[in-house]
Amino acid sequence: MTVPLLDLKRQYAPLRAQIQARVQAVLDSQAFILGPEVEAFEEETRAFCGAGFAVGLSSGTDAQLAVLMALGIGPGDAVITSPYTFFATAGCLSRVGARPVFVDIDPATFNLAPQALEDCLRRLARRDAAGVLRAPTGERLRAIIPVHLFGQCCDMAPILALAAEFGLPVLEDASQAIGAECLLDGQTRQAGTMGALGWFSFFPSKNLGAFGDAGMVTGADPAHAPMLRALRTHGMETQYYHRFIGGNFRLDALQAAILRVKLPYLSAWSTARRANAAAYRAAFAQAGLLDRLTVPHEGHAGVGQPHIYHQYVIRVAAAERDALRAHLTAAGIGSAIYYPLALHEQECFRSLGGQPGDFPHAEAAARESIALPIFPELTPPERDAVVDALARFYS
Ligand SMILES: *Cc1c(COP(=O)(O)O)cnc(C)c1O
Repeated sequence: MTVPLLDLKRQYAPLRAQIQARVQAVLDSQAFILGPEVEAFEEETRAFCGAGFAVGLSSGTDAQLAVLMALGIGPGDAVITSPYTFFATAGCLSRVGARPVFVDIDPATFNLAPQALEDCLRRLARRDAAGVLRAPTGERLRAIIPVHLFGQCCDMAPILALAAEFGLPVLEDASQAIGAECLLDGQTRQAGTMGALGWFSFFPSKNLGAFGDAGMVTGADPAHAPMLRALRTHGMETQYYHRFIGGNFRLDALQAAILRVKLPYLSAWSTARRANAAAYRAAFAQAGLLDRLTVPHEGHAGVGQPHIYHQYVIRVAAAERDALRAHLTAAGIGSAIYYPLALHEQECFRSLGGQPGDFPHAEAAARESIALPIFPELTPPERDAVVDALARFYS
């Protein structure tokens, strides 16, 4: 049996008629740029997440760019983030001229470690004579970007407390985590609503996937919304008058129409992903594999969707990882490596000066992790085939 890492066709099939009707309606309207579909999807996403506002953007990457531009983050600035994330998180910082400052991850969750953040802020950062908080390399520290990797929220309470103490806004890269919940001050909160601003990606393979690129910025304070709306249309508030410079970062009306059909199913899809994860855990235990591989750690007890398993990433011995992947491929089982390098190891970031060993937990994760099929429509026989292939590798 072959098992794909992801099969989007299975999700599309039952929604086909609904989606085609909504797409057809947009085609008939010939209104493709912003408009009612985008506004409705923004409001539905805002309500779903419990955010104060939501602004549709053309991708997760453009959403992050617009956030950085809205806050005036640029040359001379530095922003703290994780070295173990999709490239865009740090790439956007460099694109606006700011410096990514990495702090290591918690090996259990792959998420930015509050302790490493605290070390960075207390030991490495310093205040200059004017009281400005500076990175070790001299740039002004402007923000902290925790990434809710693979669909699980970071440990937000200590991150938010440190951010408040040091006067830095928290910007959440929630690209992989729409609908992921955690408790904050005893209240259930969703990814993308806990910091000053956050963003989601609707790249087709994300948990809520468009039929192309799309993204969203969310936040608590609607005062941010007008600037973000202006930035997505070249900084234009009144037509053809520009007080500042933005870009073409608009969410497409066709994508919004498609995403509006899919959003009501998102919670059920997350529940199905969680059921797959629970079944894997039980099956790996049954097969005696838990001393050979580490299944995802699930924190955030006390909420309904503590992990939405955008990816189901296990860890194995670094020396065996690539052979395991080859074995799975030969057995027809899809897998992927998220991500083969920590960001300070990427060629384009060598100039930042990161050395091997600087972020040991991120480096180890890059060598030991492997993602297995977890998509909501995965069937029990397919799950069994994945477990069998792993058991054969270790037998
Ligand atoms: C997917 C992703 C992005 C980028 O989103 P796009 O919509 O592809 O631009 C950014 N950060 C993380 C962590 C992601 O997973």
